[in-house]
Amino acid sequence: MRPARALIDLNALRHNYRLARELSGAKALAVVKADAYGHGAVRCAQALEAEADGFAVACIEEALELRYAGIRQPILLLEGFFEAAELSLIDQHQLWCVVHSAWQVEAIEQARIARPLRVWLKLDSGMHRVGLHPAEYRDAQQRLLASGKVDKLVLMSHFARADELDCPRSAEQLALFQQARGDLQTEISLRNSPAILGWPEIPSDWVRPGIMLYGATPFEQTQEQAARLKPVMTLESKIISVRELPAGEPVGYGARFVAERPTRVGVVAMGYADGYPRHAATGTPVLVDGQPTRLIGRVSMDMLTVDLTDLPRAGLGSRVELWGRDVLASEVAYGCGSIPYQLFCNLKRVPRLYSGG
Ligand SMILES: *Cc1c(COP(=O)(O)O)cnc(C)c1O
Repeated sequence: MRPARALIDLNALRHNYRLARELSGAKALAVVKADAYGHGAVRCAQALEAEADGFAVACIEEALELRYAGIRQPILLLEGFFEAAELSLIDQHQLWCVVHSAWQVEAIEQARIARPLRVWLKLDSGMHRVGLHPAEYRDAQQRLLASGKVDKLVLMSHFARADELDCPRSAEQLALFQQARGDLQTEISLRNSPAILGWPEIPSDWVRPGIMLYGATPFEQTQEQAARLKPVMTLESKIISVRELPAGEPVGYGARFVAERPTRVGVVAMGYADGYPRHAATGTPVLVDGQPTRLIGRVSMDMLTVDLTDLPRAGLGSRVELWGRDVLASEVAYGCGSIPYQLFCNLKRVPRLYSGG
């Protein structure tokens, strides 16, 4: 059996969820969209089921996967519905729904539903992706409340630059939100992972942790609270071949690495088809039998190569950690112009093995 696999530590997931709650003092929707950022949405939701205030996903397809697996907690659709016809399923499965556009307000006014909906009304406070314009926000609140189709509104917005700890933009977005929200006394939700970890002064009755649940930092620099996260995924494999090369010999496609000294090369069963980033360059950290070393040469589809020259005891069958507790996924990601979000979401082909469930 090919030794490449992703170990998923569900105790670490629960630790990170509790940290989100502790830091915010708020209710927390565990964001499990995109198959829980590659960690497996059903297994992650089940691991949090006993304590989570609810879950958040991108779309109804993801919500139904959780409902069919028996998840009974609230599930928020972060992009709401894409067409009005979804409202009957939203009603039937008691899903919570973001409303970010005027056409969605109208669709709810005209909906034929058995029970009133829980709506999270989204303001565009400066991200300029989705959300109602500040000038439309109060009118949308009043129309939804008057429609008789809504039991409760939560007012929400999303930050564009909360991962930049010295950037004034989040405070500006907050001020715009406070101004646009009006005097409706109801719950609000503003904070994603970087805002939970880095912006304690931002109010939020509900927080929406995503990447932090999986134990990766959203910040490029070290940050005190992010250092308390526990990585959930360990991506590992084994050395399947060893080469001794004299100085001057190249390794792999495009000869991107040429041995400067006699070099012992280990070949690892892991490649970009598994989700390991092809753009990771020579020097990217890896761990072999618990010892730090480096990636060398180009990552190929099913294999990559590492430097074993200074690890004489490592060889065939040695365990290789590509990311996990010792090599942080964020370090690998930021080192090659990516983000840990994308590394996790790109995971494929490797079997996921769970512990702590
Ligand atoms: C994905 C998403 C989140 C989670 O973001 P993280 O940075 O992973 O914490 C929160 N809110 C909304 C609206 C999202 O789309």
